[in-house]
Amino acid sequence: MHPLLALDGLGVAFDTPLGPAPAVDSVSFALEKGESLGLVGESGCGKTVLSLAVLGLVPPPGRVTGGRILFEGRDLLTLGPEALRGVRGAGIGMVFQEPMTSLNPVMRVGFQTAEPLMLHKGLDKARALERAAELFAQVGLPDPGRVLRAYPHELSGGMRQRVMIAMALACEPRLLIADEPTTALDVTIQKQILELLASLARERGLSMLLISHNLGVVARTCARAGVMYAGRLVELSPVEALFERPLHPYSQGLLASLPRLGERHRLTPVAGAVPPIHGLPPGCHFHPRCPSAFEPCRREAPPAFAPEPGRAVRCWLHAPEARP
Ligand code: SF4
Repeated sequence: MHPLLALDGLGVAFDTPLGPAPAVDSVSFALEKGESLGLVGESGCGKTVLSLAVLGLVPPPGRVTGGRILFEGRDLLTLGPEALRGVRGAGIGMVFQEPMTSLNPVMRVGFQTAEPLMLHKGLDKARALERAAELFAQVGLPDPGRVLRAYPHELSGGMRQRVMIAMALACEPRLLIADEPTTALDVTIQKQILELLASLARERGLSMLLISHNLGVVARTCARAGVMYAGRLVELSPVEALFERPLHPYSQGLLASLPRLGERHRLTPVAGAVPPIHGLPPGCHFHPRCPSAFEPCRREAPPAFAPEPGRAVRCWLHAPEARP
């Protein structure tokens, strides 16, 4: 049995006048059926570009430079546009950060939800609208009949995000990709939407790839977390183990910057800034910010080491032969 989604050495670069700038660099991981994985990192770390690559939606001048994206064993990078649209429509559902930019402002949300059901499932309009109302009820929208007839601007931010989730679920996908699904919402609604996503994934046996800059959001929703830095996946770990004992110095910095209940001391954000992708430092891209950097770090990019079962870390500190 192959995993539902497997990335194998995925690379994505943006062509610039100075040459190709790597946005995603040799990223590999597997996502099993029914599993939720959160990708976390500061803005510009490549997590959104990675999710767009899985969907075949990297905007130019970006392009996939290498690797494979296996969905149910099929390499999506070898599919033509038509077949890829089919996978996107029926196999993979998407929820983006800001529903207002994803929803058509001049079309009722009921029809927007019904349309993929007509396209990909062959339902007639009446049945597709009926199904849209059922989905609205399942994602907790009050008065689904009224919501069917509403335009996006007539709904609150939280209701629009619920509509987006209903749309993403319409064709019963096996994988849900949610990119910063709660960033534009207030804290109470954020919590409700995260709980909704987690319970829908559980009930439907859905796999979920959650993209977030917020480690707390990933911890609440996912069993495993991947930490990205400057295009690389620097740590992959069960969430609990990551919180208990982060292995990568960057993960340690991210965790140290999280506010903890009852603590009064000042937060310690990771010192320095993420380098621009057209000016990445050689070797380990984190070395200018790393308090533990030593000789090989400036020279050579660390591969992924597996110091514990179920965990991977790209850091020379975890290579027995390279320890200082
Ligand atoms: Fe720090 Fe070196 Fe590990 Fe990079 S490889 S995180 S610079 S210790």
